[in-house]
Amino acid sequence: MQNMINIFLSQSSKEFFRLTPNQQSALRKIGIESIRDVLYHLPKRYEYASSAKLIQDLVPDEHITVYGRISGLKTGKSFRTKVSKAEGKLNDETGTLKLLWFHQPYIAKIIQDESLVRVHGKVSERNGELSMLNPEIESISAIPDNIGQNLFADAIANGVKIESINGVNNSTSLTTPIPIYPESKGITSRWFYHAVQKVFKHPEFARIEDPIPEEIRKKYNLPSLQTALVWIHTPKKSEDAKVAEKRFAFEEIFYIQLRNEFTRALHAREKSFAIEKPANEIDAFTERFPFALTEGQQVAISHVLADFKTGHPMSRLLEGDVGSGKTAVAAVTTYACVASRPRGQNFGTLQVAYMAPTEILARQHFESFIQYFKHMPISIGLITGNGCRKFPSKVNPSGWTDISRAQFLKWVANGEISVVIGTHALIQKTVRFKHLAYVIIDEQHRFGTEQRQKLARKEKVMPHLLSMTATPIPRTLALTMYGDLDLSVLDQMPSGRKKVITEIVNSGGSVGQRSNRHKVYEHIRSELKAGRQAYVICPRINEPDPEKEQTVMARSVKEEAKRLREDTFKEFRIDIMHSKMKPTEKEAVMEKFARHEIDILVSTSVVEVGVNVPNASVIVIEGGERFGLSQLHQLRGRVIRGNHQPYCYVFTSDSKRVSNGPSKGATAKNQSSSSAGAGKSDKTIERLHALATAKNGFELAELDLAQRGAGELYGGKQWGLSDIAMNAIKNLKMVEAARTESQALVREHETMEKLATAVPALGAILQSKKEVHME
Ligand code: ADP
Ligand code: MG
Repeated sequence: MQNMINIFLSQSSKEFFRLTPNQQSALRKIGIESIRDVLYHLPKRYEYASSAKLIQDLVPDEHITVYGRISGLKTGKSFRTKVSKAEGKLNDETGTLKLLWFHQPYIAKIIQDESLVRVHGKVSERNGELSMLNPEIESISAIPDNIGQNLFADAIANGVKIESINGVNNSTSLTTPIPIYPESKGITSRWFYHAVQKVFKHPEFARIEDPIPEEIRKKYNLPSLQTALVWIHTPKKSEDAKVAEKRFAFEEIFYIQLRNEFTRALHAREKSFAIEKPANEIDAFTERFPFALTEGQQVAISHVLADFKTGHPMSRLLEGDVGSGKTAVAAVTTYACVASRPRGQNFGTLQVAYMAPTEILARQHFESFIQYFKHMPISIGLITGNGCRKFPSKVNPSGWTDISRAQFLKWVANGEISVVIGTHALIQKTVRFKHLAYVIIDEQHRFGTEQRQKLARKEKVMPHLLSMTATPIPRTLALTMYGDLDLSVLDQMPSGRKKVITEIVNSGGSVGQRSNRHKVYEHIRSELKAGRQAYVICPRINEPDPEKEQTVMARSVKEEAKRLREDTFKEFRIDIMHSKMKPTEKEAVMEKFARHEIDILVSTSVVEVGVNVPNASVIVIEGGERFGLSQLHQLRGRVIRGNHQPYCYVFTSDSKRVSNGPSKGATAKNQSSSSAGAGKSDKTIERLHALATAKNGFELAELDLAQRGAGELYGGKQWGLSDIAMNAIKNLKMVEAARTESQALVREHETMEKLATAVPALGAILQSKKEVHME
């Protein structure tokens, strides 16, 4: 029976839906191959005929739906940039709206000129002409009546029906949600509508077994799989869709947590080196530090040391703001390993691998570990794509030396090098350890079980793992995505750190606002003259295409660097960095900046990942409203490493947003009273001001989640989560419920195999390689 069900769902969409080759390739592009994929391709939003507007009522900047007839549809290349574009005009009885698409030459193929369409997008206005850039567009068979009329409420109350919208249903009421699916070239929402109908009508549909056990569904009032599918694809009212969404969100979070719980259970049964160091030895090691450990550091260290003792592999995440001192935690816990002998051996030490995301960072860790361990009789190695180093050098015992890769690998394999620091080069096959006990991963969001096993490949035992990150993520997201890890948090900064003076600066177009910018530049000039360095962060890489009206406001790295070089800071050395550069090019620029061969580094947010340039004391962020708070916080973290007073200037590019200029030493909060504008801009200001008031990155991450929504911020893609699940991450109760239930199941069934026997439908999902996608 189970097999039959899977066969139905796994059946190829090609035969079942009789796809044309074009449709087939369009679907494949969005990852749809089976019937299940079609069912789980969920609407991204719903539209109501009542929420559309007439063209005469459009207001710039609003996201809105407009119905009308399209004319003058043509395609071509944009004159300057040679980017493919399509354009046309949309008319209703009240006016004309210009439509423009870039990079979507297929528009003209899927839409017929002079046909009726519904478009959805952001309205913009230039020289009195209204337009929409890259709107979603869909053919329809008729335009609903009464668009934009306030009589709607009455009409709905009286149950008035309108003519066909979406060509789907001739009796769709104004309040019936119309599902809109994520865009895919050549496949319309209408196609999806008919496709799911076909599945719903198939006799096998009713026989699909629900992977979520009934007790759990009952307990949390979740609809059955069939009900949820029908409700999400063809809701009668918006509540139906909400209830269904809740189920799919729970389902997705539940599967992730269940997998994580099984991983955790698996680790609990694995063996690791049991490491035990008496407190007095640890104290003796830390007493050499030029500072006293913060309470947070002490707690984190005690967590790790306690895990070390168990003989089972530790899996721990250490979260701490930039500058909170994670390296010291890594050093002390490393000490516990390298001061321990392998069992039954009276020579050598346990080994530690410390992996960093970039070569510069690996080198910085190498340097600081030399400082931490130079008094001990151990060797430290560095391996990157560019070669290998070893400390101490035979010739000069207080320094390091370059060594050949072959020599390096030999010394790691025979256990002579105790601590191996490196980039990804560390997990190559050729790197073999003798007694690898502990793996530390720096600034890596996710280091998979697989990679970890790769590292432990030659070992009988699994190494302990400490994953360190400065990316603050909300608790609910951590509970879900890092459910297999235990968490330690450094939530306080070492004392004596200077707080970054943060100002939100209006840099709009008016004379007064230009002078705000000027004042900031003068302050930067004085910092640079005093020998400091500055970062300028821009949201974009290239000069904006003048035709892409909506992006004109965002400053670009190249354009900004040119402007600063030619006008503002002629006397200083300026260079650029952005994500389109090769890793080696980026590193080269970063090195130059670190050596102070560059005064001002103009960059996109790629500079985020933790490099230490203590001499940089100013960071300017252009287009601040385009960044999430946690991201701004991360960027600001670039300037808190040194002894100099750090400054962060967040420019907002919308002239309506903040009306006050900077005053030296004033924090953003002080300026909030005089901010102008209403609604959206108020929210922007409020949001940015949190930068000056929040205690730490975690608070900002939670604020981000509350104010902007996870989907918008953390991009489901980054975590592999659907938008629906990302949204549900806001819901602590749901996340905790999923956790409680998955823990209970793992306790009851112990292994995935046993669970699969007891609840086959659930087992099938957990064991399938392909994650269930629900975008
Ligand atoms: P991050 O958490 O960003 O990796 P680091 O480990 O690089 O931070 O530490 C930043 C700086 O703070 C380093 O120069 C380090 O020596 C210093 N530091 C770490 N812990 C303390 C402490 N308890 N007191 C004072 N300074 C500290
Ligand atoms: Mg660090």
